[in-house]
Amino acid sequence: MENIFSYNYLSYIYQKSSLIQMIPAPKLIDLSHIIFDGLITYKGLPAPIICDYLSREQSKGLYDGGAEFQIGKIEMVSNTGTYIDCPFHRYAHGHDLAEVPLEQFANLDAITIDASGSTSIGIEFFKYKEVRDKAVMVATGWSKYWNTDAYFENHPYLTAEAAEYLKEQQVKLVGIDSHNIDNTQGKTRPVHTILLGANILIVEHLCNLDKLPASNYKFNAVPPKFKGVGTFPVRAYAMV
Ligand SMILES: [Zn+2]
Repeated sequence: MENIFSYNYLSYIYQKSSLIQMIPAPKLIDLSHIIFDGLITYKGLPAPIICDYLSREQSKGLYDGGAEFQIGKIEMVSNTGTYIDCPFHRYAHGHDLAEVPLEQFANLDAITIDASGSTSIGIEFFKYKEVRDKAVMVATGWSKYWNTDAYFENHPYLTAEAAEYLKEQQVKLVGIDSHNIDNTQGKTRPVHTILLGANILIVEHLCNLDKLPASNYKFNAVPPKFKGVGTFPVRAYAMV
């Protein structure tokens, strides 16, 4: 007979109780662009090559019973699509993808900052918002130019002062739906330098940020666990 204190029994009771049925499942909002063969994410960096390593046709001879498989092969720079920057991207001794703990990538309390129509996003956008300990999503609307020439020039970015303020507020992560979180007209990258130097992760090339609520939701962007890599594509999403 099942012990009434066993985990299985308690979880059965929990699932059957009317209480759990009253809590709706969270809605998921996809915040990542599609990555496809030949896509240019960043002007000057090569596009990914996505092809078969083993095609379905080739695989037929390897299996019986009508089984066939495809094994893909991808050649790409790590800054492709919607991606996350870890400290190693900027600092040789910073944490890489394998060293950043899962807690920094997932289940983060998040807040949305509406910066649509602005190019230089300063401290005033964050000053009276509850950004402390949050994943801060900066919604600029720039993702509408994704995969066009207009995406790369005169894009929205954060100022160094805004980055300093977010560092002081000990935010967990900063996301933006633009080509770069830094101004790319010059050669300095103060926002990357300040945030990654403070172990604050950055997600760039997000989309659908206009679909997010103002606050009270979770943000997730988990990359694979590569050693010696600082940046990688993520399937970023919000749980609302
Ligand atoms: Zn970056």
